[in-house]
Amino acid sequence: MPSQPVAFFTQANTFSELWPAVRSRISAVRRNGKYSHGLAVAELEKALAEYTGAKYAIGVNSGTDALVVALRAAGLEPGDEVIVPAFSFIASASAVVLAGGRPVFADIEDDGYGLDPVAVAAARTTRTRFVMPVHLFCQPADLAGLNAVAMAHGLTVIEDSAEAIGMRYAGRHAGLSGAAGVLSFFPTKTLGALGDAGAVLTDDPRIAETADALRHHGRFGRTLANFPAISTATGLPGLNSKMDDIQAAVLLTKLPRLEQDIARRAKLAGLYTDQLTGVPGIHKLPSVGHRGAEVRGVWYVYVIEVDRRDELAAYLAARGIGTEVYYPVPLHLQPCFAGHHHRAGDFPNAERACLRTLALPLYPDLTEHEVTHVCRTILEFAERTR
Ligand SMILES: *Cc1c(COP(=O)(O)O)cnc(C)c1O
Repeated sequence: MPSQPVAFFTQANTFSELWPAVRSRISAVRRNGKYSHGLAVAELEKALAEYTGAKYAIGVNSGTDALVVALRAAGLEPGDEVIVPAFSFIASASAVVLAGGRPVFADIEDDGYGLDPVAVAAARTTRTRFVMPVHLFCQPADLAGLNAVAMAHGLTVIEDSAEAIGMRYAGRHAGLSGAAGVLSFFPTKTLGALGDAGAVLTDDPRIAETADALRHHGRFGRTLANFPAISTATGLPGLNSKMDDIQAAVLLTKLPRLEQDIARRAKLAGLYTDQLTGVPGIHKLPSVGHRGAEVRGVWYVYVIEVDRRDELAAYLAARGIGTEVYYPVPLHLQPCFAGHHHRAGDFPNAERACLRTLALPLYPDLTEHEVTHVCRTILEFAERTR
């Protein structure tokens, strides 16, 4: 078979198709003259609230900042502990530090990638005030279990739903089962901008009001006269985390296609699952459901668990097929958290996920033919290394 490169991610075709519409929306921003925190941002916030069912959607400049803003708006104070999964993107934990809190790591479930409610209960101390479920890849975390633990111990739930636009759990959009959640519009996400952007989702008017001020230097009201310290005792100032109107214009153009893109991703994911079922060396194929819960999963990435992960990734790379390891090092073993004094072995499920998981190409521009080619190449590797 001739070698056929397959990008890990591209949205070149999507953007060429949408370009006339994107351009006219960006021209409207130019004519309107307000390039940051302007009319397009307000229109996007309204559209996001409608799409997700959130009472409030607050546009900020990244998913990471959305987490920082959500934690602080929900009342985090310096030194408060936030339980986060040991397996996630670094931002789940770094946002806690940036907000003035202390991340406390807990293991994920042995049959999924979400926080294990039992581990959360065990990690709790007298200083724990928050828990942060993260919805990774295509499947929601166990929100029923985690909300029950949070309720029993008086913890506030802030969901890292950065990857989870379109995902629903028990009838609610991701990010809306606790006090607040977030969205990331980083270009590779399911709804990706032409740069960085993010949003806070909440139904709580006080969190929404504080988040609105926090992203804008802590400004309440319309003047630059009054900057009260946000979050009672802390005296911490606000951020500059406003959203660019050009990003809002791009997202407003893409949002009407989101459901179509989600369906396309599901179709391609199904094709992977059909062709990879039973391939030797694959421990686990992904699935969207979560044990009995009423769930609508969204295929942000297609992640398999394999033996000899790095060899397989190198084999595919040598044939021009892009893959990605989300995430190679668990958070508790990241150098920036060395002060937490964790050791390898502390969170075995997270560590196993770091060793075995491999994300395959999955995006609306990918063709069925390319998926089949990736699967055949994986099968070829499995046969050669048997
Ligand atoms: C992408 C992502 C973030 C951060 O979003 P940015 O917009 O890149 O700052 C946070 N958490 C998770 C789980 C993510 O995947």
